[in-house]
Amino acid sequence: MTIITRFPPSPTGFMHIGTARTALFNWLYAKRHGGKMLFRIEDTDRARHSEEAVVALINSMTWLELDWDGEIVSQFEQRERHADVARELLAQGKAYECYCTPEELEAMREKARAEGLPTFYDRRWREPTQTPPAGIKPVIRIKAPLEGESTIHDRVQGDVTVANAQLDDFILLRSDGTPTYMLSVVVDDHDMGVTHVIRGDDHLNNAFRQKIIIDAMGWSVPVYAHLPLILGPDGTKMSKRHGAASVEEYRDMGYLPEALRNYLLRLGWSHGDDEIISDAQAMEWFDLEHIGKSPARFDFDKLASVNAHYMAQAEDKRLLSLITPFLREHHKVELCDISEARLLAGMAELKTRAKTLAQLADEGAFYAKAVPLDFDEKAAALLDKDTLAALLEILETLENFTAGALETACKAVAASLHGGKLGKVAMPLRAALTGRSVSPSIFHAAEILGKDESCKRLSVVISG
Ligand code: GLU
Repeated sequence: MTIITRFPPSPTGFMHIGTARTALFNWLYAKRHGGKMLFRIEDTDRARHSEEAVVALINSMTWLELDWDGEIVSQFEQRERHADVARELLAQGKAYECYCTPEELEAMREKARAEGLPTFYDRRWREPTQTPPAGIKPVIRIKAPLEGESTIHDRVQGDVTVANAQLDDFILLRSDGTPTYMLSVVVDDHDMGVTHVIRGDDHLNNAFRQKIIIDAMGWSVPVYAHLPLILGPDGTKMSKRHGAASVEEYRDMGYLPEALRNYLLRLGWSHGDDEIISDAQAMEWFDLEHIGKSPARFDFDKLASVNAHYMAQAEDKRLLSLITPFLREHHKVELCDISEARLLAGMAELKTRAKTLAQLADEGAFYAKAVPLDFDEKAAALLDKDTLAALLEILETLENFTAGALETACKAVAASLHGGKLGKVAMPLRAALTGRSVSPSIFHAAEILGKDESCKRLSVVISG
């Protein structure tokens, strides 16, 4: 049997981080078993539908490097097929027409509320004694089982059982002929051959209703795995309040897609104590048995450390192209051949220091900035002109402008002006060359900038 999973988001405008984890789990499960993951857009809410929201989902999946099989399916486009299934159930006597008016339904709701009943529809059209009223278009309702219990064998939650009295004769087809969400999901999953439904546990209750339709049609019940929610660090549902809830925001903060995948994988699934898990390992190991039963809390520090790991491993050229938009937007810097070459020369050191691409761009921007630099407050306070002038005099005479030679020059100035304290020379040099008080090794950075550029930066500070 080919394993077929599905990713069926509703287009809300962005991809929630929990939705991304659901996509990842479905993707890994399919990969692990040589199966397929299908992508369906649940776009039946036409009042709120927007194409941009669909594009946002596709962009997030593409950025996360989660690929799917086949064409993207639009649920809305299958609506006639969904309606046909409702009519088929009606013809088989497994569903019925209900002619209740909104007022009647409201009265039933009131009564059920007063009596504390779990459902409200009193099934008055299930075995009708009255003739259908003229001029009212009926809805089609499912005949839910009246007695006994239903059990979902969930691969994460275990067996979950409810009394059938909790389940009502819910609507399959509205009076305007449009299918309900509950029906559409079941028909699409069946038609797409879905074998495994891996989704958020906010859908566990729906599974009981969906199973009624599946049983009525005589279709096979998929394997269910309902995942606990992702919580923010404070234990409430992860939302914008916690910093970032959408995939796009993580991209814009400078996380790498492979780091987010690794982090989201660990957030709710475990393989012993392993924290760093490559895609290849994840595809070999991922299973439903090791998904945690309780909600996981998002931990930004851990995400940053996972990201730092992947940044340090990433290829220098790739990082250069990934920081280019950060340099442009945060530092107003456009790269040229010279600045690119400098950044590449400094990348080995830069990439082991930064936790995000944004930080990497912050730390590397000095390689690409034009003089005069802008100095941050701490750097401005370090610009000791006398020291820098003494240093410049030596630097201008250097034939081999290497990190070693620069260090020797700084030591000489420190010996003559600062009682041998190297920091008293190196710190002003760092401030003058980078505009900042922290940077990668300043002797190495100066070597990369080269003699002309370094001396120019020093002269501008001295004469400024
Ligand atoms: N469209 C639903 C959602 O975005 C998913 C439904 C399902 O997985 O069955 O929450």
